Amino acid sequence: MGVKISLFLLSLTVLLAVAFSPSNEKYSLEDKYIYKADSILSIMTLEEKIGQLNLPAAGDITTGQASSSNIAQKIKEGKVGGLFNLKSASKIREVQRVAVEESRLKIPLLFGMDVIHGYETIFPIPLGMSASWDMEIMEKSARIAANEASADGINWTFSPMTDISRDPRWGRVSEGSGEDPYLGAQIAKAMIKGYQGENLALNNTIMACVKHFALYGAPEAGRDYNTVDMSRVRMYNEYFGPYKAAVDAGVGSVMTAFNDVDGIPASGNKWLMTDVLRKQWGFDGFVVTDYTAINEMIDHGLGDLQTVSAMALKAGVEMDMVGEGFLTTLQKSLEEGKITEKQIDDACRLILVAKYKLGLFDDPYKYADPERAEKELFTVENRKSAREIAAQTFVLLKNQGNVLPLQKKGTIALIGPLADNKENMTGTWSVAANFERSISINDGLKKAVGDRAKIVYAKGANVVADSLLESRVSIFGKPTYRDERSASAMIQEALDVAKNADVIVAVLGESAEMTGEASSMSNIELPENQRDLMKALLGTGKPVVMVLLTGRPLALTWEEEHVPAILNVWFAGSEAGDAIADVLFGDVNPSGKLSATFPQNVGQIPIYYNHKNTGRPLPEGQWFQKFRSNYLDIPNEPLYPFGFGLSYTTFEYGGLKLSNISPIGNQSIKASISVSNMGKYDGAEVVQLYIRDVVGSITRPVKELKGFQKIFLKAGETKTVTFDITPEDLKFYNYELEYVWEPGDFEIMIGGNSRDLSMGKLNWKE
Ligand code: BGC
Repeated sequence: MGVKISLFLLSLTVLLAVAFSPSNEKYSLEDKYIYKADSILSIMTLEEKIGQLNLPAAGDITTGQASSSNIAQKIKEGKVGGLFNLKSASKIREVQRVAVEESRLKIPLLFGMDVIHGYETIFPIPLGMSASWDMEIMEKSARIAANEASADGINWTFSPMTDISRDPRWGRVSEGSGEDPYLGAQIAKAMIKGYQGENLALNNTIMACVKHFALYGAPEAGRDYNTVDMSRVRMYNEYFGPYKAAVDAGVGSVMTAFNDVDGIPASGNKWLMTDVLRKQWGFDGFVVTDYTAINEMIDHGLGDLQTVSAMALKAGVEMDMVGEGFLTTLQKSLEEGKITEKQIDDACRLILVAKYKLGLFDDPYKYADPERAEKELFTVENRKSAREIAAQTFVLLKNQGNVLPLQKKGTIALIGPLADNKENMTGTWSVAANFERSISINDGLKKAVGDRAKIVYAKGANVVADSLLESRVSIFGKPTYRDERSASAMIQEALDVAKNADVIVAVLGESAEMTGEASSMSNIELPENQRDLMKALLGTGKPVVMVLLTGRPLALTWEEEHVPAILNVWFAGSEAGDAIADVLFGDVNPSGKLSATFPQNVGQIPIYYNHKNTGRPLPEGQWFQKFRSNYLDIPNEPLYPFGFGLSYTTFEYGGLKLSNISPIGNQSIKASISVSNMGKYDGAEVVQLYIRDVVGSITRPVKELKGFQKIFLKAGETKTVTFDITPEDLKFYNYELEYVWEPGDFEIMIGGNSRDLSMGKLNWKE
């Protein structure tokens, strides 16, 4: 039987090769793949078709036993379309061999993984990456990740995550690009280009998966997996942009979200998966659920596994991650007339087409090359790039009296719970990394100063005082090495160590697993025991620099008031220690800008720069007025606004110039501004363009980011930055959800963050 089928597939391939030879230009590549997929579909049994829709996790397959594992049995029976989170070229080759040699139809498998911010060479967490506002390095990091992952057998990554979030309590803010749909859309495009390249079939490009469609970043109360409910106008204008940008950029796959959207969980939501994604946006890849998301619709209260699986298929889901709802119930649903065979065929076709696009039918082993993996993973060159890239993501939040940069001389006291920790440097989602190879901050600083200065170290505090909380945030192999001494003994040790120091570098903040999945926090201030440590360090009267580790915007009101210098380094990846040293000592001038607002306190959440004006706005510069939209106990302003970030130098902006203040129709105008580097250091600045649509048919935000340019200025240098503005930049979704621009008054604003802006007004006629 097997021989017959192989012969059949072989002759089919020959026939197809003739029918679709390159000279036959009538057909697009896509058509050819669909034709080929249909040919396979015509010989598949129902079980085999359903099998292609099944995506189990790799489990604990170890080298040498792949073909005898439980999964292998299913693969042989044609019940698996792909596997995920299996690491190493040799294991993947073994498993692929089972698929292409021991299953009836020999259909190769997809191998997916959460390659989120690097494979073995780890870049900063996505929230950190987004603070670079640098699309070249976004693309480069994804390119390097794809190159490493593909050498090791991975052909599909579950990235980018483009969920807009305005809620730093939600632990997964760390995995996204912050609060802004425009910035998020640019990043999504750059990353997809980095992963997928121009040609998915090359052995070093991999298929991307935009996630989590949709609105996963807006759970009520910031609690992971919680209900999402918002108006469609808000979805389209404020949340959908980055997902759509990913589709426009040709992303190969889309992952559903766990949450409920408007009363129907995303994974069973036909309006989302079919009407929006396919009909409105023209998505032609396949949709995979998030982990057991179909099964979870039972707890959402939508019926038993058979019901929710049929619902997901009919909604437009093609692949079922882990839950096996499709595998175990679709046949029954078909027999009972609850779904059609065409729906199964349509889903299966898209999975097969993806495998064609990846070139897996030509060479199922093309992505798993142990020799290449040996040479191309965690290379000196990749690590150098990761170090350079990381330094571009740090955000200088405060630098009173120019405490920074530090000099490489004297004695530097390095204090903090994670200051000498390698494992936490990579942050959340670094599945393929070997945490112990990361560079700790202690090692980075020591290497940087050599014998020119002395680095003395003490832990000073645990990450959090509560041992139960600490155990919850070190379950994924990123130990925090809890110290059982009393808090005061640890502080005393730190003070003793710092006694003869010239300057104190206090590395405070979160551990890696305090953000990420299922890591929501109701309190986003620095843990009290760390603040006690900081108070004691400040009490020495020595200059203190705070290096902040965080995966979310924190409420740092106390720190902003008391600590002279704060450098936010997020979780900077495998080269963290070196990159942090580069910036602390001024070898690199920090240029990162926040992609998410830092609130003054948790009660201000959700707080975001592109809010509406309300009917009772507070006059600018004021705090309290009765019967205005404000708080009794705190101003409306955030602590650090979106787009904010300092430099070791200072940039001065001139007045904004508009080339035309009464443009008509499709004209294009220029908005320009001069930017001067007034300080002693060369440096990069992210110049940001915001627009306000003053009068609209629906209420519009007070400002929206519409462009940015990262420029480099030598000390003393001035450059003029120009943005072209066309009606395309004025468009939004109106009440009927039509994407339009409306003539009228606009305010054009340019500056170095969303708060400090030069403004010009214009009237744009139809
Ligand atoms: C996460 C996804 C991830 C998937 C596979 C889920 O729990 O929500 O983002 O891609 O697991 O690991």
